[in-house]
Amino acid sequence: QSLNNYLDLKGNIRVFCRVRPFHHEESYQSRSLFTLDESNVSLKVAETKIKQYTFDKVFNQSSTQGDVFAEVEPVIKSALDGYNVCIFAYGQTGSGKTYTMEGKPTDLGVIPRGIQALFDRASESNIRFMFTFSMLEIYMGNLRDLLVPGSKTHGFKKVPSLSIKTDPDGGIEIENLVAVSVKSFQEVKRLYEVGTRLRSTASTMANSTSSRSHCLIRISLTSVNTPERKRERNKLWMIDLGGSERLVKTKATGKRLKEGKAINLSLSALGDVIDALQTNKAHVPYRNSKLTQVLRDSLGCESKTLMLVHIRPNEDDLCETICTLGFATRVR
Ligand code: ADP
Ligand code: MG
Repeated sequence: QSLNNYLDLKGNIRVFCRVRPFHHEESYQSRSLFTLDESNVSLKVAETKIKQYTFDKVFNQSSTQGDVFAEVEPVIKSALDGYNVCIFAYGQTGSGKTYTMEGKPTDLGVIPRGIQALFDRASESNIRFMFTFSMLEIYMGNLRDLLVPGSKTHGFKKVPSLSIKTDPDGGIEIENLVAVSVKSFQEVKRLYEVGTRLRSTASTMANSTSSRSHCLIRISLTSVNTPERKRERNKLWMIDLGGSERLVKTKATGKRLKEGKAINLSLSALGDVIDALQTNKAHVPYRNSKLTQVLRDSLGCESKTLMLVHIRPNEDDLCETICTLGFATRVR
C-alpha cells in the first residue's frame, strides 16, 4: 500500500502536539502537570481533575527535531504527488512554534528539512519539477510580501496589502506576490534570510513583534506532462502562526490590543474552517479572515493539513494550555 493511500485512510487533517522543554528558570514543580504518551496529553486541570486530550501524535519534552520531522515528512512529500499541503505551527508566544518550523542553525526545523527533502526526492524522480519560493506575512489583515525590499523605505503601514484573486476553477492567486524560481536548498536559504530580515525590520517600524503576525512560506510546484500527479500545479504552505495568547492575560491596550484581536480573529476563523471541513459542513466559512482566504484552495478539497500544536510546560500557563488544547480538539 502506497504512502499516500495510507495518509488518505488516516484522513487529510492531522493534529500533533509538542510540549516544549523547561527553560532553566522554570519551576521544577510544574513537571507533574502533564502525563504524555504516544497520542495522549493528560493534564491535571485541578487538584483532583485530569483531562485527557487525544492527538495523532504527541512529542514530549525530549523529542528531537528529527523525531518531529520523521512524522511530518510524509505529509510534505505528498506535495510531490500533487496535493496542496498546509503545515501550521499553533501555540502561544514562547511555546516553540519557530523552533519547530525554523529551528536553530545546528538543529534545523521542519521548513529547512522539508525543503531539502523535497529537492532530494524530486531529483530522484523521473518527473521534472519546477519550484518557486514565496514568503509573506499577514499583519492586521494586510498581506505583505517579505521578498520585496522596496517596502523598507516606505515604512510598513504605507505598503498596500496584496490582493487575493480567485481564478475560474477556484484556484487562489495572490496578485503580484514574488515567486522566485529555486533549484537548490542554498537558494531557498538565502531567500528565507532576506524575508526574515525584512520581517523584523517591518516589525520594529510598526512597533510590533513577529508574534503579532502570521508568517507564511509558500513553495509552488509545477510538473510537465505527468498524468500520475493529482494536479500539475500545487502548493506547499508552511506557516508560523501568530501567538494564540488571550488578551486578558497580556493586558494589552491600544495598538497591541488591536493586533491581538486581529490574530485571535484569524486563528478562530482558521479553527472554524478546519472544524467545518472535518464535520463535512455544507458551508465552510473561508471568507472570515485573510488567512483562510489565502489558503482557501489549500484547505479541504483533497488537500493535506497538519496542525502542529505547541504548549508551554509551565504551571503559570495552565489556562493558555487548556485553551490551546481546546483548539486542538476542535480541529481534530
Ligand atoms: P514561539 O515561536 O512559539 O514564540 P520559540 O520557538 O521562539 O517560540 O521558542 C521559545 C524559546 O524556547 C526559544 O528560545 C527556543 O529556542 C526555545 N525552544 C522552544 N522549543 C524548544 C525545544 N523543543 N527544544 C529546545 N528549545 C526550545
Ligand atoms: Mg516565533
